This record gives sequence, C-alpha cells and structure tokens, in this order.
Amino acid sequence: MPGTELFGAEERKEVNDVMDSGILIRYTNDHLRNGHFKAKEFEAEVCKITKANYAHAMSSGSTAVATALAAAGIGTGDEVIVPPFTFIATIEAVLFVGALPVFAEIDETLCLSAEGLKKAITPKTKGICLVHMCGAMADMDAIMKVVNDHKLILVEDAGQAFAASYKGTAVGLFGKAGSFSFDYFKIATAGEGGVLVTNDEATYKIADVYSDHGHDHVGTNRGMENHPMLGFNYRISELHAAVGLAQTRKVPYILKKNRDHKAFLTNELSKTPGISFSKICDTAGDSATFLNILLPDTESAKRTVDEMNKAGVAGFNYWFLNMYHFINQWDHIKELRTASKLPVQVLGAPQDYKNLSLPKSQEVIGRLISFGIRCTWTEAEMKNLASNISACVTKALTAVHA
Ligand SMILES: *Cc1c(COP(=O)(O)O)cnc(C)c1O
Repeated sequence: MPGTELFGAEERKEVNDVMDSGILIRYTNDHLRNGHFKAKEFEAEVCKITKANYAHAMSSGSTAVATALAAAGIGTGDEVIVPPFTFIATIEAVLFVGALPVFAEIDETLCLSAEGLKKAITPKTKGICLVHMCGAMADMDAIMKVVNDHKLILVEDAGQAFAASYKGTAVGLFGKAGSFSFDYFKIATAGEGGVLVTNDEATYKIADVYSDHGHDHVGTNRGMENHPMLGFNYRISELHAAVGLAQTRKVPYILKKNRDHKAFLTNELSKTPGISFSKICDTAGDSATFLNILLPDTESAKRTVDEMNKAGVAGFNYWFLNMYHFINQWDHIKELRTASKLPVQVLGAPQDYKNLSLPKSQEVIGRLISFGIRCTWTEAEMKNLASNISACVTKALTAVHA
C-alpha cells in the first residue's frame, strides 16, 4: 500500500487548508475558501499524470466506474462483458446501472483477453467493462481490435491501475471513460475517493452533472442552477480531495520505487525453477503495485501458500481461495441475492451465473500468488523476502515427488 506508507506533513497541510476555511464541499462559497479548491487541484494532478483531457473526482472508485458506465450510455438491459477476476465493484456497477453482466475469460495478463471477449460477444453486447488488474494493463492492441471490429463501447475500470499506461497512453483513456480508485488500498489514497477520466468533453460533462444531482455547475447560485438530467450524490468532500491531492503528488516517486523494487524481486525470483510471472504487456507502463507470481498449477500454488504461512511470509494474496476478488467467492452474484429487485432479475440474466464455465480463468487464478510491492522496502528486506519465497516454492514443488 505505497500511498499509505508515505503519509505525512504534506497530507496534513492540504487538510488544514480546508479546515482553516471550513468549506468542506467542493461547490459554493468560493469567496470563503482562501483560494483553495482541493477537488479541482486533485483533478488537475490526475490529469498531469494521465495526460487526460478531463478528470472528475468522486466519492469512490465504485461511484466513478458506475458514473463512467452511465456517461458512456450503458443502461438498463444492455449486455456488458466483465471479467471474473476483479474487485466486486465492477460487477455491482454494471448491475446497478441496470445492465446485464456477461462473464468472459481472462488470461495470463490477469485481464480480459481478446479471445475471451470474442467468445462472449452476442448480438446484444453493448459494451465491455475492462478491468486493469493488479497494477498492470490488458493487452490493449488486441482488445481495441475487438472493440472496433464489433463497435462496442469500452469503459475501463482502472481502479487498481492509476498511473499505469500502455505504449504511452494511460489506462482509462482507451475507451469512452475510465475510473481510478483512491481507497485506502491503492497506490495513492484519499481515504475514500475515485476519479473518472476521459478525453471526450461530452462524456465528461455528463459525468460532472450525473455525479451531483444533475447540477450543471454554471453560475454562482447553486440553488437555481439548471439540471440537464437526473443524477445522484457521488461527490467527493474537500477533505478527502485534499488527501488525494497530496498523495497523487507523491505518485511519480512511488512509481519509480515500485518499479525498481519489482524489477529487483523479479530478477531474484526468476532464478527459482517453477516460478513464472503474469504477462505484462508494457513493462515500462506497469504501476508495479503487485508482483504476480504464477506457479505451474493450482496444487503447487496451494502448497506454496501453505509453506509461506508456515514460514511466516506475509504480504501476499492468494485470490483463488482467500480474497473477495474472484468469482468463486461471489455466491451473492451467483444467487442474485439483492436488497431489492434489480433489472437483471426482471429481464433475466444472459448467463447462468451459478454454472459458468471459465476454465482458463480458473487455471490462471489458481496458479496466481500476488505480493503487494512496498515503496519503502530496503534492499536487505527484498533479498530476504525473495529468498523466503524461493525456499517455499522449492519446498512446495519437491513435495510433489516426495
Ligand atoms: C478498489 C477497486 C474498485 C473500487 O474502488 P473503491 O474506491 O473502493 O470504491 C473498483 N474496481 C477495482 C478494480 C478496484 O480494485
């Protein structure tokens, strides 16, 4: 969790600016804010890193991806292809805008694959909610070919991949709109927060209005603004934006450290037989928040996890069994357990969510163990970690023959 590792005076200063004026909302009372517009400054900082034409900060990565879908024109009854490996917010966002999720296969990129997409496309497919998982990126050349060939709407949930890019373009900017999360576990945090990015002015304007009850943000009398469409409250507070601003300024430093640390560990661990890594389509654009190790098969990954638990190796996720990021743990979706009726329950699900066949995704996630990269690691700590991981993998793999 690199952002939280570097918490300090910079965050405090930005928050104090807001406390000193007492204007905790991003809109209204401009004459009282001593020139501080934290949400706007946070957005400008995100634009600086992503080179996006427009960025709009919101209350969370979840509300940002929901807004991205709505602003891209995805709504009730539209089939949207989603991955089975993501934080659940992606699927919730699709369901809550009224759309119908269609699960497709991922591959060793840990993201939806072009091949998986092609198999999942039907005449009813309206779009794709592509997720850039574990800090890296999908294979965008191949994916954009499918998007263009089938004239689909692309929305990117880059919740975990802020500051990642593919061949020079930031993730989040390949389709209509993209979203980043600044929750507590991401490369930079606002406490809670999210940012929508787009290069399309019309999409940005919808997002701006939609995320604030339809307010058009023209003029100085908020109570009498025009409302071009309905919206909801997905606003970020100035306090959260202040933290997000200070943290985002640290991202260039974090990126450099993360990439160095990931390269060091990758180099050390590649000497161990049986260890390979997830596919990174553009190493130079990796945000390097995770080191993703692939074992030869699920059984050896499970044994490695056991060995690491025994040896006290910490800081890893085995998503296949232990985390809320893979479809095997999503019984509420398989059974469509909801607080109240959703469009998917009225219109009918496009797939039998209880009996999905996603063998490639099962195989890849079964083999995957992810380590969070820390930007404050010392070389000695990394050497120690690498040798511990290596010893556990070697033990787990030799146990097969014992
Ligand atoms: C973290 C995350 C989200 C949700 O972000 P919140 O800010 O926690 O709402 C959405 N999608 C992905 C892929 C994420 O990792």
